[in-house]
Amino acid sequence: MRRCIERERLTSFHEFGLAEPILTALAQENYTTPTPIQSQTIPLAMSRRDVIGIAQTGTGKTAAFALPILHHIEATRYRPERKSCRVLVLSPTRELSIQIGDSFKAYGRNLRLAVAVAIGGVPINRQVRALNHGVEVLVATPGRLLDLVNMRAVSLDKVEVLVLDEADRMLDMGFIHDIRKVVKMLPKDRQTLFFSATMPQAIAELAKDMLRDPARVSVAPQSTTAERVAQRVILTDKAAKQSLLNDTIKAEGDAIDRVLVFTRTKHGADKVVRNLEKAGIYSEAIHGNKSQNQRERALTAFRDGRCRTLVATDIAARGIDVDGVSHVINYDLPNVPESYVHRIGRTARAGAEGVAISFVDHEEMAYLRDIEKLIRMSIPSTDRRTGQRPAQPGARPAQQNQRHQPGRSQRGGRPQQHGKPSHGKPSNGGGKPNRDKPAHQQGKQSQPVSLEAGQRPQGRPQSRPLAPTQPINHAQQQPKRQQTSQAGEIGGIKFLQRKPDRQNAADRRGPR
Ligand code: AMP
Repeated sequence: MRRCIERERLTSFHEFGLAEPILTALAQENYTTPTPIQSQTIPLAMSRRDVIGIAQTGTGKTAAFALPILHHIEATRYRPERKSCRVLVLSPTRELSIQIGDSFKAYGRNLRLAVAVAIGGVPINRQVRALNHGVEVLVATPGRLLDLVNMRAVSLDKVEVLVLDEADRMLDMGFIHDIRKVVKMLPKDRQTLFFSATMPQAIAELAKDMLRDPARVSVAPQSTTAERVAQRVILTDKAAKQSLLNDTIKAEGDAIDRVLVFTRTKHGADKVVRNLEKAGIYSEAIHGNKSQNQRERALTAFRDGRCRTLVATDIAARGIDVDGVSHVINYDLPNVPESYVHRIGRTARAGAEGVAISFVDHEEMAYLRDIEKLIRMSIPSTDRRTGQRPAQPGARPAQQNQRHQPGRSQRGGRPQQHGKPSHGKPSNGGGKPNRDKPAHQQGKQSQPVSLEAGQRPQGRPQSRPLAPTQPINHAQQQPKRQQTSQAGEIGGIKFLQRKPDRQNAADRRGPR
């Protein structure tokens, strides 16, 4: 496990006054020094203050909230009432919930502790039984939690500590309504620990409603890309992406411990896996159409090194906590710039170095601009475009097509999300929600955009400087002096202006 924890801000776990069985567990986990988010959060949370933490996954934030909570449970030990929990952790995805549950069990291994995980996609009965005698810690996705509450399998009136993890992703997945419902069921007199990688306005408002005089901790400037990730862009033709992927994986060879490949759609992920197989590269896909068992099998193979290439969609990959992801490859660039930050945060975890390579075709140039604006740096690029655009019968220039696309960004110039053709019916309208798309993208019809041969889209960067393909050098990453996306302040919390979330929340339920 490659870890190098920053030295300067470190203290020892012993300085926090954590209970002895917890310190023993940390030694068993080989945690010697707290990460910066832990150094900041643990003392505040142990003094029972509400905390807002701006931190990405990979910074050690799970232990930052789990350790003081475990200390509190140990210091005020009593038997939880039937069908109740002392601590409620809300997380957006099944994978992240399982990981948080595992962390509580690992750090609390020397305490007598009942930890339950309530997630969708698996039978509910076992979860009902697990809650029957009451638990110290319940980790849940919001939809399944509400199901359990409605079945009277659990009541939330004994909750002493609420943790909301990855709040911005909760917003993307349309969970805000569910969260507000849950919060109404909780005692007012509780501690709330609130974590988010970014602070868009809706999240700042939610935090203001949920927290009492919160202390604010932050480990990196909001939305700043992990500094230890060496980033590179390869400009390419869309049709050449698969062979580029095969070549990149082969060329990086032994430098790759594990590579996480991101595609925009579930269908796209499966296709990439099939094509990698044809090229002799074994990979697995993880996305919302896979059963929980399939996802866990793929993750286990990835974790234990049997499968070095995992192809994932954004939401399925959210919260994947695998050490040793050396490379992230964006086969498709995300159209929400914050997702780029989340994606590349899968590598360079807990101090390890990582590489992020993004394949950018001409339709994704506007996404790239948005990402560079958000991370305030220009990513070094290599141009592998042939200059020819694929001709399609009857195709119009992208700009022309986009002008008629419904639901397109008001800001203009942003290409529509691409997915499989809709075959005459809305891709996801009204039916079962698509877990692998952020809520505000659901229900939109995907419209492939193509150009006539040789045409370039107007109003976009015509070309970027040619750069030779070469190893990534951190010094190449030039911070840009650009306008930051910070747009305001609510209750002392700075927030980013984000695209409005237009879709009806009821249509956007995530995993139950
Ligand atoms: P998290 O951000 O909570 O998902 O944690 C990211 C990774 O860092 C996980 O694999 C943790 O096990 C690991 N980790 C968290 N805190 C420490 C620490 N103080 N020392 C070493 N590893 C840590």
